[in-house]
Amino acid sequence: MLKRMATILIVEDDPLLLDALTGQLQQLQFSVCTATSVAGATALLQTQAVDGIILDLGLPGADGLDLLTWARNHIAGLPVLILTARDGVDDRVRGLNAGADDYITKPFNMQELQARLQAMLRRARQPAFTQASNAAGGPSTTLGPLLLDHASHTAALNGDPLELTQREWELLELLVNRCGEVVTRDDVLAAWRASPPEPGQTAAPPLNSNALEVYVHRLRKKLDVSPNLVIRNIRGLGYMLAKPAD
Ligand code: CA
Repeated sequence: MLKRMATILIVEDDPLLLDALTGQLQQLQFSVCTATSVAGATALLQTQAVDGIILDLGLPGADGLDLLTWARNHIAGLPVLILTARDGVDDRVRGLNAGADDYITKPFNMQELQARLQAMLRRARQPAFTQASNAAGGPSTTLGPLLLDHASHTAALNGDPLELTQREWELLELLVNRCGEVVTRDDVLAAWRASPPEPGQTAAPPLNSNALEVYVHRLRKKLDVSPNLVIRNIRGLGYMLAKPAD
């Protein structure tokens, strides 16, 4: 159970559905605020703290995904559940890649929505990253604006694919899996040595602390667009990916 009443922002332009959702969530002891457009929601989020968003995509003026992108860039770790009539796989993938925590299509079952909303809020209160399943059903991790797909070794930042070499991927995965903890140089070097050489390289470069510094430098540049993702030097030990809310 929540220690205090969680506040949910419902962004929905259908007045009947908005009323129904508001009533249901209030019955469940949620505090509810509402917006009927992206502009209205953005204005509200700048003055009021909320614990989660239920977001329609087909909205007048601007698309719900625009709000999702805005929220990902401005409010670390705010959970967003998309509730939309768009039921295509492409839509679902786009929504999840843009950083949505869950995706439910209309028509929907109110009890399922409640259950998934509660689960989403529970995950959000846990450590900064969450293990989840991606749209393709594989294991994935989201950390703030970052999404890692462990099966395909791909990452996306704010919904945009990150170009990573194999070594960069392995380094990033280690840092994300142990977000908030120190990852020692030896940890990274051991992980690198345990994996095959990078494709296209005839002679693998030496895997030592100097090489690691170069890779960390490159990874920092690639994560640089997000002020939330900071790889700290831990003097004499290694590196730490700071939790996004830190
Ligand atoms: Ca709509």
